[in-house]
Amino acid sequence: MSASLATVAYIGAIILFILSLGGLSSPESSRRGNLYGMIGMTIAVLATVFGPRVTMAGIPWIIGAMVVGGSIGLYAARKVQMTQMPELVALMHSLVGLAACLVGFANYIDPMAALNLSSAEKAIHEIEVYVGILIGAVTFSGSLIAFGKLSGKIGGKPLLLPGRHFLNLIGLLVVIAFGYQFLHAETISAGMIALVVMTVIALLFGIHMVMAIGGADMPVVVSMLNSYSGWAAAATGFMLNNDLLIVTGALVGSSGAILSYIMCRAMNRNFISVIAGGFGGGAPAKKSGGDAQPEGEVVAINAAETAELLREAKNVIIVPGYGMAVAQAQHTVYEITKLLREKGVDVRFGIHPVAGRMPGHMNVLLAEARVPYDIVMEMDELNGDFPDTDVAIVIGANDIVNPAAQEDPTSPIAGMPVLEVWKAKTSIMMKRSMATGYAGVDNPLFYKENNRMLFGDAKKMLDEVLAALKS
Ligand code: NDP
Repeated sequence: MSASLATVAYIGAIILFILSLGGLSSPESSRRGNLYGMIGMTIAVLATVFGPRVTMAGIPWIIGAMVVGGSIGLYAARKVQMTQMPELVALMHSLVGLAACLVGFANYIDPMAALNLSSAEKAIHEIEVYVGILIGAVTFSGSLIAFGKLSGKIGGKPLLLPGRHFLNLIGLLVVIAFGYQFLHAETISAGMIALVVMTVIALLFGIHMVMAIGGADMPVVVSMLNSYSGWAAAATGFMLNNDLLIVTGALVGSSGAILSYIMCRAMNRNFISVIAGGFGGGAPAKKSGGDAQPEGEVVAINAAETAELLREAKNVIIVPGYGMAVAQAQHTVYEITKLLREKGVDVRFGIHPVAGRMPGHMNVLLAEARVPYDIVMEMDELNGDFPDTDVAIVIGANDIVNPAAQEDPTSPIAGMPVLEVWKAKTSIMMKRSMATGYAGVDNPLFYKENNRMLFGDAKKMLDEVLAALKS
């Protein structure tokens, strides 16, 4: 393929990526967005493999690597449960970071990479290598820790080392000092020493940064690492002189940054204080179904009573959370919604921006179950409507409906906007036990006078509610 044809293909792929991001901004167009992304990526891969910079001898190697990588990806995608998606995404981000590091080292030791460069160009190339490895290493280790936290292998309690900000500052100064040494290194091996020291510090920084972040702040960290992985890819693009990779990385990096901002706003937090860490660290992220002790009186109801309340209601708001994903209850939720709507009940869904374990988690599940988009509302769109709502039914959600965020200034989630379900005439909370949610914070909603607890697995209980509604 000629260089100009490859450039045209790259421009086509870039346009498709932009259209893809545009499509992903709303559930209606998200399938189309995904399709654009897939076509764009296919064009990008073909134009690169058959482009002017790959020799015929290299093609079997590339195809071999693609078969191995593609098979692993296919296997992981088919095997992973929907509830494990956030962990998988974190793991993927770590691979982008690792790739940036490996490309950086390979580029530095490759005698051809800096051949025929003027001294200014060589310096720029070395800065690209240094910064690329730096971002890649932080992304790699930070994403691995995020993977551990999201999968519950590492507790959610923030690790707050004494003088941690000072430690970070020292790390930064050392990185700058070694950067200077790297740029002035006479030999490859002297440069290598600086690179390796910086990489170790960057890896430690990534671990430290994510370890210091409390359970409740994880949504911001997930989107932030998403952004970092984009910048790592862009840095790789600079090292390889690949315009497509630079643009694609910048698209991912900036959209991840915007998502981090949206997540911060959703949690009423500012980005710097998230990075400084410590929020939502009341307790380690408990596995659901844990053994938290009840405090006060709760009123339990059964599925038949829940069906009765729903049948008598004129309007209902459903608030789904992580437990709905665990129970895979979205299809039964849809059946119940359909039945109630047929009976003339006004049913809407209230989606908290951090519900579940990844941005848009609930929207994806509800779209999969074919819940009409026009009754799926953002938190801000319906939070004022709870006082006029007969029944608010919470399905496997906890932190996002916790009144302590408003009522208890000492709560670790104080100030986080929540769905005000307790203002409805009756709220029903469907979960298996009295356990806390991801942030490990007790929920006073359980004990409110107008709240009822429907204990059990969400899928099982909803099946019973559906049967009772039908009878
Ligand atoms: P929570 O984790 O607060 O609560 C989920 C509840 O679901 C649990 O209390 C659990 O209680 C219940 N549950 C679990 N399995 C089942 C089941 N099979 N049937 C019925 N109930 C079940 O989830 P929320 O969605 O309310 O809040 C999201 C939390 O996750 C927030 O703290 C957010 O910060 C955090 N987070 C969000 C991310 C994102 O990007 N959206 C990323 C990382 C973290 P029980 O065990 O008693 O059943």
